[in-house]
Amino acid sequence: MTPTVYFVIPCYNEEEALPETVRQLTAKIESMRAQGLANENSRMLLVDDGSKDRTWQLVTQLNQDNPYVEGVKLAHNRGHQNALLCGLMTAMERCDCAISLDADLQDDVDALDEFVKKYLEGCDVVYGVRNKRDTDTWFKRTTAEGFYKVMKLLGVDVVFNHADYRLMSRRALEGLSEYKEVNLFLRGMVPLIGYRSDYVYYDRHQRVAGESKYPLKKMIALAIDGISSFSVKPLKLISNFGILVSVLSVFGLLYALVSYFAGWAVSGWTAIVCSIWLLGGLQMLCLGVVGGYIGKIYSEVKARPRYRVEEYLRKEETK
Ligand code: UDP
Ligand code: MG
Repeated sequence: MTPTVYFVIPCYNEEEALPETVRQLTAKIESMRAQGLANENSRMLLVDDGSKDRTWQLVTQLNQDNPYVEGVKLAHNRGHQNALLCGLMTAMERCDCAISLDADLQDDVDALDEFVKKYLEGCDVVYGVRNKRDTDTWFKRTTAEGFYKVMKLLGVDVVFNHADYRLMSRRALEGLSEYKEVNLFLRGMVPLIGYRSDYVYYDRHQRVAGESKYPLKKMIALAIDGISSFSVKPLKLISNFGILVSVLSVFGLLYALVSYFAGWAVSGWTAIVCSIWLLGGLQMLCLGVVGGYIGKIYSEVKARPRYRVEEYLRKEETK
């Protein structure tokens, strides 16, 4: 049977990119329908993540003019991961499979057919993986690839060079809906669901319009969230480091005692000052890491809602 395919697109201040994105995706849905990859109830679901510009007005307009556009408005800006989850959970009720992609079309739309073909072959999750990163700046490329390597080292199961361009079947989405965590890192959560999965390789393009909504600060926050949500290794590293320093300090102590009794304990000022600063700094860093985890426990325990939907503009299904 031809599936109902939903494209889920989080949008934050994307008024410049949206018209072109919707134009290309409309053409895509139409060509997929013609090929029998998607049925007439397939849609694109634009999630407005509390934008400050005219994004929502545009979505409302597009919803009226375009037979495929649906919109969800979040009550305020909750960040990309929450907006995406909201879109996926909204689509879950109505689709056979949902594909998440960015509003700026950096993820190659020509790869979309491939995703659905893999779904039709029986995959529940299809990960979009970038071939190369030559459209990214050197800085973004190095930091991003370094991040995947660190995640692997810390024992987290993430797909290398896969961001959030991904197809999930309805039952995979239902699996995802059972994960109640507040600190979201979807690309770490999806592999935990299990089911059969596969990869689609694609080249990442430049943004169609507008500028990145992921400044360095948000990238670092996402990386830290990813690590601390899926690995307690940093806590173990701290304890191991503490043991190492304690062992070393025993030698230091012995040396100090020997010097004292031998009578060559002259001004050891430099060594003392250096070690105080160094150890003080390291202790604060370690406290910071522990504090980071406590902060997460705090927000998980409160279990506040991850997003709030203010409005949902849907399209009726044709039976
Ligand atoms: N985005 C969002 N909420 C935010 C920040 C970004 O919904 O607070 C959306 C944004 O509109 C885009 C996607 O997340 O569709 C990825 O953002 P962007 O393209 O700016 O990130 P980059 O590709 O530069 O990493
Ligand atoms: Mg982008």
